[in-house]
Amino acid sequence: MNIPFLDLRAQYLELRQEIDAAVMRVLDSGWYVLGKECEDFECSFRNYLTGDGTGYFVGVNSGTDALRLSLLAAGVGPGDEVITVANTAIPTVAAICSIGAIPIFCDVDPETWLMDPRVIESCVSRKTKAIIAVHLYGGVCDLRALMSVAETYRLALIEDVAQATGSTYYEKFCGTFGNFGAFSFYPSKNLGAFGDGGGIFVASAEVRNLLTMLRNYGQRDRYCADISKGENSRLDEIQAAVLRVKMQLIHRWDGRRKELSEYFRQCIVDAGISVEVQKYYHGVSSVPHLFVIKVPKGQRNDIQAKLANRGVQTLIHYPVPIYRQPAFASFAARGNRIAEKLCDTVLSMPFHQYLNRNEIEYMVDSLSLAVK
Ligand SMILES: *Cc1c(COP(=O)(O)O)cnc(C)c1O
Repeated sequence: MNIPFLDLRAQYLELRQEIDAAVMRVLDSGWYVLGKECEDFECSFRNYLTGDGTGYFVGVNSGTDALRLSLLAAGVGPGDEVITVANTAIPTVAAICSIGAIPIFCDVDPETWLMDPRVIESCVSRKTKAIIAVHLYGGVCDLRALMSVAETYRLALIEDVAQATGSTYYEKFCGTFGNFGAFSFYPSKNLGAFGDGGGIFVASAEVRNLLTMLRNYGQRDRYCADISKGENSRLDEIQAAVLRVKMQLIHRWDGRRKELSEYFRQCIVDAGISVEVQKYYHGVSSVPHLFVIKVPKGQRNDIQAKLANRGVQTLIHYPVPIYRQPAFASFAARGNRIAEKLCDTVLSMPFHQYLNRNEIEYMVDSLSLAVK
């Protein structure tokens, strides 16, 4: 059997007619940036998140920009410190550094693999301005604890929801808890465009207005800038139109991801394989983005090769803690023992909503053979 890590084309094939029609509609309209498609998508994604028409969603060019513009809107600037984690994707930290702020790495919980609220207070200094909580793999951070730290120290709480579109915490969507919820619609994410895209959820109209200026050269009205930090970061009409079509199936896809990941977990338990999976905090219902296992130390290369021999393609998210990468080596990182360990032992199995139970059983059989 051959199981590729992802199958993005399947999403296109499932919705081909609607997507083709939507793209043609945009091409025919003569209006390609900041138009009706973007507005309609912002509205429908906001409704997906809050259900009751509260809050605002602002489409931007990428998940990285969603983080960057959130930081700017929160007033974070050069020399300010932003607390995040070291086992995340590069863009979380690139966003911080791109505005001259300094990333401070808080170690993660050994079971949930997410920012450890018991450690975070030791990372706070007089320079701290914000926390970027990363809902890694679709798991959800201990938001109650993080919100309380943010409140105590008056820090902006930015949720990096790039990997957790659809995950909920006590029945509310993640991305709606912090001051900013930064989403990515990169093609491989839970909800993906056919190019780059991202967006920010905020509760306040005032912050929404600030973000809409930041994404569009700093101008409120055409040809008159109100703020100097504006840039060009817009969700274009074609991507917005594609996302609108995909929204039709989002609940079904969310459900399918949940169901498949639960089945995957159960099969691993039933087979008695000595690998660990991500644990969830109380109140979390995850729509997993990746299916990540933690393998016994020293065995990962071997396991990966054996799986590849059986046609199972795996990846590693992520192999090197951020502060060990050349670009970020100048940032101090004390005591990120758990993040280090995870970077050495995590392995991502193929995972998407089009897998079937047969394929999952085959992968678990392959794991049984590969893990000592
Ligand atoms: C994908 C991702 C981003 C960045 O999103 P882009 O749309 O690719 O810019 C940020 N944070 C995390 C955790 C991600 O996985």
